[in-house]
Amino acid sequence: MGLVGESGSGKSTILKTIAGMVPAQSGNIILNQTEPLDTMVEKRPAAYLRQVQIIFQNPDDSLNPRHTVAQILAQPLRLYYGLSGTALRDRSIAILEQVRLGEHYLERLPSQLSGGEKQRVAIARAFAADPEIILCDEVTSALDVSVQAAVLDLLDVLKRQDGTTYIFVSHDLAVVKAISDRVAVLYQGRICEIGPVAAVYSAPFHPYTDALLGAVLEPDPDVAPRLTADDAVELSPPKTGCPFQRRCPRKLGSICKTDIPTAQEIAPGHIIHCHIPQVDL
Ligand code: SF4
Repeated sequence: MGLVGESGSGKSTILKTIAGMVPAQSGNIILNQTEPLDTMVEKRPAAYLRQVQIIFQNPDDSLNPRHTVAQILAQPLRLYYGLSGTALRDRSIAILEQVRLGEHYLERLPSQLSGGEKQRVAIARAFAADPEIILCDEVTSALDVSVQAAVLDLLDVLKRQDGTTYIFVSHDLAVVKAISDRVAVLYQGRICEIGPVAAVYSAPFHPYTDALLGAVLEPDPDVAPRLTADDAVELSPPKTGCPFQRRCPRKLGSICKTDIPTAQEIAPGHIIHCHIPQVDL
């Protein structure tokens, strides 16, 4: 599941809320149809900690510089599976091989790794817990383009091998398109459009999705952008009505100012939140 939207749309906040790092202002987080989880991670069941892992943009911020790769991988393997000794070492090597790093990386410190290798170790640590969901927060943004492609390819392979779900945040719409099956478009913390990535990218229905994708994918440099930097982030969202009302090129009228749009299903699994009747879109 990809999450896209401009800066300030709430992409990373949603990930941090799911991870229990930021309290939710409203709503519930439900995993596997169970009871809603407490908003703060300390109060969640121990099983949840294993099931949901997070990978950050900059591995330097999440890898302890004093710990070797072996020590970094040992944390989840000891905590969740009680491994030690030969079993711990064998499992660590197997996970390193999954992320295309070898046994000889075990004794290295993060300072002895390249940026791409560090992110592979961060991915390996997340997969060591054998989670159901991995929250990916701009995980390729700090990498060179060629390394980005390799890390995306690795994530794609691991997803298919393990059946893990990613909730993938990136400001790079092409990266989200490459890795996602479904995508949600956010504006001011609300979902405007959600659906299969191919459908949303090829024929966006919501006016904001259309403007966001058009702003990035417009091939002619002489054509004026549909969203400009000047109006990129509204610091104070409207208190009532549609969050996109001030910038919407297709605003209907007073209903857009007064009523929050309800969901309209365009096709199975493809939903928009907009007052424009579906037949007119
Ligand atoms: S609800 Fe109104 S303002 Fe919001 S996107 Fe639709 S037409 Fe535009």
